[in-house]
Amino acid sequence: MIVEDDRSLSRSIYDYLKMEGHICEVALTFTDATQKVAINKYDCIILDIGLPDGTGLDLIREMKANRLTGGILILSAKSSLDDKLVGLNIGADDYLTKPFHFAELNARINSIYRRNNFLGLNEITFNEIRINTEDNQVYVNEKLLILTKKEYDLLLFFMANRNRIITKESIVEHLWGDNVILTDSFDFVYTHVKNLRKKIVAAEGSNYIKCIYGFGYKFIDI
Ligand code: CA
Repeated sequence: MIVEDDRSLSRSIYDYLKMEGHICEVALTFTDATQKVAINKYDCIILDIGLPDGTGLDLIREMKANRLTGGILILSAKSSLDDKLVGLNIGADDYLTKPFHFAELNARINSIYRRNNFLGLNEITFNEIRINTEDNQVYVNEKLLILTKKEYDLLLFFMANRNRIITKESIVEHLWGDNVILTDSFDFVYTHVKNLRKKIVAAEGSNYIKCIYGFGYKFIDI
């Protein structure tokens, strides 16, 4: 989620991150951001400090008080060292000073995601599966898998949530965000899961992805 009241900046960040394959939402006000964090779970929140109806720091305090998780990257003005320090002290993961390069923003977001989900490692290995999160390559038994972007994101999501039941709804939320037309079935999730599983098994990997009838899926440590 991009929390930034400067419309043209939030739009530019949105467009850039979308191009990089992230699913994004924008909140232009403190109120909007507060409502969104209460309902959704974000991998990363890009947080401007100065908002028209509150401060980004208060949003961090509110999230911590309500035990809401999610990475937080502060965007701060050049002069406000205090804001950065306070932000880091109360639980932000990182900060960037305006103006910044979008490529650096993207690198910081990916690093926060790795830190929060994979102990900061660029390479995630799990039995015969090896994922390089720098170049987005996946190997099974050291054989390169050709995955679509959605299959890759799905695999990372499963890896970050091993042995937990993942509902179809949470997969849709994570991989498609708000940009999906909500239907009752989410059958397209099934297709992506099936294809991912097929590719892993074709490379003689184990069948880790189990269907939990009526709920969704579970990536199981065998
Ligand atoms: Ca602002």
